[in-house]
Amino acid sequence: MIAGRRLLVATTNPGKLQEIRRALHGLSLELLSLSDLPLIREPEETGLTFRENAAIKAEAYATASGLPTVAEDSGLAIDALGGRPGVMSARYPGSTYGEKFHNLYRELAGLPLPWTARFVCSLAFRDEPGALALGHRFAAEGTVEGHIAAQPRGSHGFGYDPVFFYPPYDATLGEVSDERKLAVSHRGAAFRQFRRWLEDSGL
Ligand code: IMP
Repeated sequence: MIAGRRLLVATTNPGKLQEIRRALHGLSLELLSLSDLPLIREPEETGLTFRENAAIKAEAYATASGLPTVAEDSGLAIDALGGRPGVMSARYPGSTYGEKFHNLYRELAGLPLPWTARFVCSLAFRDEPGALALGHRFAAEGTVEGHIAAQPRGSHGFGYDPVFFYPPYDATLGEVSDERKLAVSHRGAAFRQFRRWLEDSGL
């Protein structure tokens, strides 16, 4: 249904977009992002879960653009903080990630080690609203388990990557290449499922 056609990747985050482009590379799709459609209004992310927010974004952007749309909502869940910042990761206090890290370490100080954590990515796809075939919806979730590093390390990736220590790599996700991150990351896992679904359903 969408092969050779346009797919809207509903994000303005350049870090996410770069990873998603890499994850979908080689499919016969023209990928557009929200930067290509600047007039579309952002929906309010009122969901209490990643899954709800991904669905809200996919629905809103598919309706507004008339394009098949894949959206994702993601974030960092720290066990010692009861799963926070979670869906509030982008809105966690601090106007830069340096400030966010500072506030995070202040909150974690004194709490027992290791500070186990995971990144979660919920993905939702909606076909364009006018599509005749009903049921062209897909949802997937990916996670990666690790813990919060003793201090931020590395300048690769984006967001919380420098504070997320991934034991099998003995490194933070800020210290590894995009390719190595995508091979194990929450976003990599969710978009691999999406890619398989696209290929299997002959879309
Ligand atoms: P949202 O999905 O637009 O609400 O934003 C998710 C936020 O979670 C991002 O702005 C980052 O702060 C954080 N986040 C999500 N995925 C990653 C990742 O792969 N690395 C680092 N931070 C991430």
